[in-house]
Amino acid sequence: MAWCPFATKMELQPESDAQPAIRPTQLIVHSLAAPWTIERIYAFWRDGTNLESHFGVGYDGRIGQYIGTQTRADANAAANLRADGSGALSVETASNVEASDPWTAAQVESLIRLGVWAHQQHGIPLRLCRSASDPGFGWHRQFDAWNPNAHSCPGDARIRQFRDVIFPEIVARATGKTTTTEPQHPQENDGMTLGKLNEANPLDVTLKSGEWTRLAFEDAVLHSGPRRLVGPTYVQLTFAADTPPGTLVTGRFYATDTSGKDESGYGDVGPLPLQAGGAVQFLHNVDVPAERHLRFMVRAVSPDGAPVTLTHRFVTGDYVA
Ligand SMILES: [Zn+2]
Repeated sequence: MAWCPFATKMELQPESDAQPAIRPTQLIVHSLAAPWTIERIYAFWRDGTNLESHFGVGYDGRIGQYIGTQTRADANAAANLRADGSGALSVETASNVEASDPWTAAQVESLIRLGVWAHQQHGIPLRLCRSASDPGFGWHRQFDAWNPNAHSCPGDARIRQFRDVIFPEIVARATGKTTTTEPQHPQENDGMTLGKLNEANPLDVTLKSGEWTRLAFEDAVLHSGPRRLVGPTYVQLTFAADTPPGTLVTGRFYATDTSGKDESGYGDVGPLPLQAGGAVQFLHNVDVPAERHLRFMVRAVSPDGAPVTLTHRFVTGDYVA
């Protein structure tokens, strides 16, 4: 009966006592199709359904645990408990009602921490599941046996985040090969103050195909160094509904001096296709040195070379204040 030390324990009864034991060999992530807090998720499992997940993660990154990890939870169909006693840990996450939005920076960080903990606590191997019963990490719709109703859960944007960002970072931290300074970073419960970057800009911007455009959110500077990041800084761009299919978008986080000169890049992210709803996401994981400013630019390439319109942009991320 294991309870994650950085999750808020909200034990479900009678399920916690009544459901059979499992030996956890997999961790499977989900989207709720509801923008709920961990308390609201608990109330739904308790009052609204006989299903439940082991964990819930709100948009703010808080983690709730509803059932011990060595007890069956009923979110993954055939993976909940197999004949050999093995089963999957399930993590539900707040999302929009279409389950089409990406995870927030705070959710990304919490999923990474949960993944590392599941590996250390239960020996879940550091690989993506290769079959429905193969030990490892996965997402709900990855195998039909986990998802007989063919839901899109957790959504295209989040599957991309899981494969490209979250799972690699779980491996990096669990094997001590991380390039971030996360292990030294104070967390909320160390009594340190966290700052939150949270800037948005709804003004339309026309992007000429193939040209780099520097973007301002509230202003052009995302972070002024020295700044230690706690989890990734996360940019989401949304393009107009008439943006042609096949448009590819590349993002670049870059640093300048305090006057906006002496530019240095961090490597391009992409080119990426637009997700459902016209959104595309970029993450940055490197602390900002003293006397440097972190900024962001974007380049879109449309199939016919016509300009495309960016309709909304926001940036979020936690840092040590
Ligand atoms: Zn699901």
